[in-house]
Amino acid sequence: MQEIKHYCGLFAIAGPEAAAELTYLGLYAQQHRGQEAAGICAADGREIHRRGGMGLVTDAISRHDLESLRHPMAIGHVRYSTTGSCKSDNVQPLVAQTASGPVAICHNGNLVNAGGLRDDYEHRGHIFTATSDTEVILHMLADPKYRDQDDPFAAALRDLRGSYCLLAMWPDRIEAARDPTGNRPLCIGRVGADWIVASETCALDIVQAEYVRDVAPGEIITLTPGKLSSRRFAPPAARCAQCVFELIYFADPASDIFGENVHLVRKALGAALAREAPVDADLVIPVPNCARCAALGYHEVSGVPIGRGFTTNHYVGRSFIQPTQAIRDLTVRLKLNPIRGSVAGKRLVVVEDSVVRGTTTRAKMQSLRDAGAKEIHLRVASPPIRHPCHYGIDFPQREELVAAQHTIEEIGQFLGVDSLAYLSREAMLNCVRESQAYCDACFSGDYPIPINNSFHKAQFERPRAPVAKA
Ligand code: SF4
Repeated sequence: MQEIKHYCGLFAIAGPEAAAELTYLGLYAQQHRGQEAAGICAADGREIHRRGGMGLVTDAISRHDLESLRHPMAIGHVRYSTTGSCKSDNVQPLVAQTASGPVAICHNGNLVNAGGLRDDYEHRGHIFTATSDTEVILHMLADPKYRDQDDPFAAALRDLRGSYCLLAMWPDRIEAARDPTGNRPLCIGRVGADWIVASETCALDIVQAEYVRDVAPGEIITLTPGKLSSRRFAPPAARCAQCVFELIYFADPASDIFGENVHLVRKALGAALAREAPVDADLVIPVPNCARCAALGYHEVSGVPIGRGFTTNHYVGRSFIQPTQAIRDLTVRLKLNPIRGSVAGKRLVVVEDSVVRGTTTRAKMQSLRDAGAKEIHLRVASPPIRHPCHYGIDFPQREELVAAQHTIEEIGQFLGVDSLAYLSREAMLNCVRESQAYCDACFSGDYPIPINNSFHKAQFERPRAPVAKA
């Protein structure tokens, strides 16, 4: 499934002189969470220094940048635009000078009340330079309404609605927060006396840090060199809403998130799919790379041999990773090449992690036919996606979701396959330990956090109505 891109990854470390270099590695390990832009801020006790730019981590941050950031605290961000377009003004961390000094912020998620908050600030004369939802948090931190409180960061967080994991940096400390529903993952790690916070544990692995625990929903963690402390800004929400799609598609298989190993959950999804939708076939093939774990699970339960159906081009660079459909379609053809010798004359079970618009899946199925596949039985290791995500995943609008508009039979015809089956919602939720703690709104339409139906990715870029005088 390549019709949606990943969204954002966070990394922070306090302690070592090489904090920025380690942050660079932590971002590199989480590159799968965002390929449009990357940035790092480092604090020297008095000032915050920022470097970053568009593209992959290796494009956005140079060796010279890292040398200029040799300070003992750093935060970093890899970005895919979920609100706000792909442009340099939106590169995070965002930094501002406030009456109480400089502050930097970076965000994974989506604020459903950002529009109202921003309208209010613009009405009062505030000037915004970026078009992402994140910038409004900087304005809140500069606002005397929050700034003059005992705990300005906690007070500001209490007025945010939606999905967020945040890193905030002041010259003397880093703070990390997770929204009360726990929608996005955020973990704490330790290497020697140095403390780390990251979106995924795969980032801890790369810097040889040990996993300590997850940041709890509604918790703020403060990091300074050699020290970590915790406080609550809100109780956990009555309804926890961890994103089940992190386990299905987004997170790295090596990561442990929400108390689950991603690879093992995906394997269990594939095994459940084999039990629900068996098929008499010669070969199971994953649509690389995301569905490999699920295909393995399908193979183990069904006994159908597993093999490779495609080669992948690992050298598709930054210019081909852009969030437009035209470029996405090109990328599919460039990235995947069917292995004729493997698939010709075979009855294939093709395992996909999910289907969004269906256009890229159709292109892949057509390429398998062109390579001589005798039968194609598509098995999808998640339920049909019928609803958009309002919490930070760049799904298309409902009209563009193939399963929102068509029956399973119609989708099978559109994709050009001999049979099509999706995993049931019940079976999906049976593959995680605490099924009641998850958001699955894109499958069920049951949104655990109240949503703003007028949300649009470019909502802060369209011409807006003039603000009435007070
Ligand atoms: S709607 Fe889907 S993608 Fe969005 S947070 Fe919920 S489970 Fe995740």
